[in-house]
This record gives sequence, structure tokens and C-alpha cells, in this order.
Amino acid sequence: MSDNKVLHYFRKICAIPHGSGNEAALGGYITSFAEKRGLSARRDEAGNVLVRKPGRGAEPVIVQSHIDMVCEKNSDKKHDFLRDPIEVIEENGFLRANDTTLGADNGIGAAYALALLDGAYAHPPLEAVFTTNEEVGMEGAAAFDASVLTGRRLLNLDEGTEGVLIASCAGGARADMTLPVETEPAEAGRRAALIEVKGLLGGHSGIMIREQRANANALLGRLLAELTRSYDLRLYELSGGMKDNAIPREARAVITVREADFSAVGAAAAAFEAEARREYRAVDSGISVIYGETIINEETPRVLTRESLKRTLAAINLTPNGPLFYSADIKGLSLVETSSNLGVIEFSGDTVVLRSALRSSVAPRKRGLITKFESLAEAVGAKIDLRGDYPEWEYREKSPLRELAAKIFTEAYGREPVVSAVHAGLEPGVFISKIPGLDAVAFGPNIYGEHTPGERAEISSVLRVWEYLLALLKNM
Ligand SMILES: [Zn+2]
Repeated sequence: MSDNKVLHYFRKICAIPHGSGNEAALGGYITSFAEKRGLSARRDEAGNVLVRKPGRGAEPVIVQSHIDMVCEKNSDKKHDFLRDPIEVIEENGFLRANDTTLGADNGIGAAYALALLDGAYAHPPLEAVFTTNEEVGMEGAAAFDASVLTGRRLLNLDEGTEGVLIASCAGGARADMTLPVETEPAEAGRRAALIEVKGLLGGHSGIMIREQRANANALLGRLLAELTRSYDLRLYELSGGMKDNAIPREARAVITVREADFSAVGAAAAAFEAEARREYRAVDSGISVIYGETIINEETPRVLTRESLKRTLAAINLTPNGPLFYSADIKGLSLVETSSNLGVIEFSGDTVVLRSALRSSVAPRKRGLITKFESLAEAVGAKIDLRGDYPEWEYREKSPLRELAAKIFTEAYGREPVVSAVHAGLEPGVFISKIPGLDAVAFGPNIYGEHTPGERAEISSVLRVWEYLLALLKNM
């Protein structure tokens, strides 16, 4: 068994169940851990723990990690995440769990902090912040009273690739556009057809948006709009996607068409499929568009009026979607800076709802995107609801902390670190929104398969990053 203080505390953390929302026992462990060592510890109502440890100099540094983990297991595995400890298995230089998530995200970060609090190391005064509920929307960090912190530099230990210094993250919001629509009885003598767009790869709308994969909702909206140019089609059913923050893989519509147009519409759908495959050949080659007759099991089916159909298709086709801007600050990595994802379409009889997740690491760009949604809603007569707002971590051209972290990295590793950004929310964004001028950087060891039962942490990397963390603190 590899032994080292960080691994020791990581195993302690794994022994205490700590899924999101169930961090009280681990928070209690950290609090008594601190008190036993004569360190001041406080736990707030959200369960976040702050431990202070004296050090050299007057300017403290905030060391931040989250103490909740994602609870996932293989379907045949018996494991109660509320009671059972995570079984840690050491194998081929890695730590993994036994058919469950390991919680190296972010248990390793918390273990680094505990190891620092436990030892006699050269460092500035420490403010170790352990947050809760990160994985379900950074709720702990959002509830944390940052006015108790005196540090103006923050080391976030929740990054899963060694050699990468994170210097920026996206802020975001959810935009729900609700379009009131009208229906009328379907004309007699028409044929009903089901059109499905499927076979897409999908993915997380933040992390995977850079791949420029196809969006099933957007493709279906485009196909329907194109079909209405040549055919009198009417819409009976429309739906697509499951979550606003996942790129939708499937979308479907039930339409009615004139008998004489039925085959021609099918041929147009097939031609559209060929074009979509060509358009996305490099990133999403399995797109299929399925067209076929269907039966509407309803006495008097109602379809969208022509006017409502027009507004619906305009709303879908004009909703911003996909990567919108790439980072001009961090060049050479093709980092998406601003994006939007039309994740869900729902049609419920008197409304069509379009749900989007939008993101940007530059606040004015996010506001600009929100304005686009508001203008679009006005133009098509829809109502827009914005919710789930979380703050960005804007890239700082001058960041003394990042520069020091890069310098120490280069000395330790003999190469330069990769300075990068994440196109999703990270906790430093929340702390920066509460502490203006806070200088932050995030890093961590190699962790693979986070949020899945395949999660594993590379032991040698955990140990190298520990040495790096100590060297960095020594130089602060
Ligand atoms: Zn994490």
C-alpha cells in the first residue's frame, strides 16, 4: 500500500460517506480534526467548513476544495452511498473504487488541504475552505459567507489534469422561452407522418460544445422550416432533448401533409439527412432522419395554426445554438468562450417551450447573449424566464498568483504548464463574485473517469502535485 499523508487522508475521507447533500459526517470529521490540532474551525448552515492555520507573513491564502462527491455505481453493484464506505483499491499505480465512483473528485483536493493542516510546512496563513454540494450546482459555495475570509488569493484543488493551470471558467444561465400557440382541428383527408432526428452523439453542453456536434432540436427545426417552403405541412406533435445542459441526441415531430405530398416530403427528408451527414461528417456522422406514416389516435386531432407554426419555427431556428465565440485571451487551444445549447423542446397544446443553457466566461458577452434571447422572445411573442444564473471566472491578463504558479511549475517540472479555461461553472467563479479582486488558480493531479464507476486517480501524479503544492506555498 502506498503511504503518504495525502493518501492517508484520502482513505479517511473515503471511509465516510459523502455524496452531495450528505456531507455532514465528513464536515464533522474535518471540524474535529482541526480542533484536535488546536486550529480554529467553523461550519456554516450549508455545511461548509472553514479552518484557519497560522503561517508566515500577513497575507493568507485560501485553499479550497469540495467535500461532496457524485454517487454512481455499476447497476449490479450493491452499495448504499448513505452508509457504506468507498472501497479504495490500489492497482497498477492507480486508486479506484469497487464498481462505484471513487470521489477523487474532489476527495483528493480535500486530502491535500487536510495534509497541509496536519503538518509543519512553510506557507502563509491558510484559510482552508471545504464546500458542500458542488456537484449539484455549487450550492455550498453560493451560500458561503465570504466576508469572513481575509485571503485575496485562492488555490482551488478541483482540477483533474496534472500540468494544467485553470485560469478562467464560464458563467451561465438557463433561458426558458415559452411561446403561446394556437391550434385548430386538422383538415380531413391528410396523412400523418412521424419525422425523427436521431443517432446523434450529444454530450455535456459545456464540455462537449467545442466539438461542434449536431443538435437534434436545431436540425429538426431547420428541416421543418425547409419543408414548409415547399409543402403545406401542419404540426401535431413536437419534442426533443431531455435536459437543457445536454446536447440533444433525438427530436421528433408528427406532421400532417396532403396525400399528394406524402412521398415528396419523405424524399425531401431523406435528402436533408444526406446533407446533414455531409455537414457533420467529421464530428457527428451517425445522424439519421426517419420519415414514415403514423396513426394519430385521436377523434379530432388539433394542429398548430399556420401562424403559430411560423412563429414556432422562427423561434427554434433563431435560438442561438452551439459555440458562439472562441477565447481571444487564451489562444492556441480553441477554447469556447461563449455558447448556447437548445437542449429541450416541449409542445403541450397551448405552449411551445424551448429550454436553453447558455454560457460565457466574459460577463458582457453573457449579457449580450441574454439580450438576444430577450429580443427573439419579443419578436416571436414569447415570454422568457432566466434562471440558474452562476458567475463566470473571467480570465485576468495580469494574475500574480497564476504567474507564480506557472513559474514554480516550470522549475519543478522542467516544462511550462498549460494555462487553460473550463467552459462550465467552477467554484472560483462563485468566490470571485463575492470577493472582488480575488486572484485564483486551479490545479490538481490526473484523475480519469470522474462521475463514473471507472473513476481513478494516478498515485504518482497525486504525489507530484502534493510536492508542487508545497513548493508553491513555500514561495508565496
Ligand atoms: Zn469536482
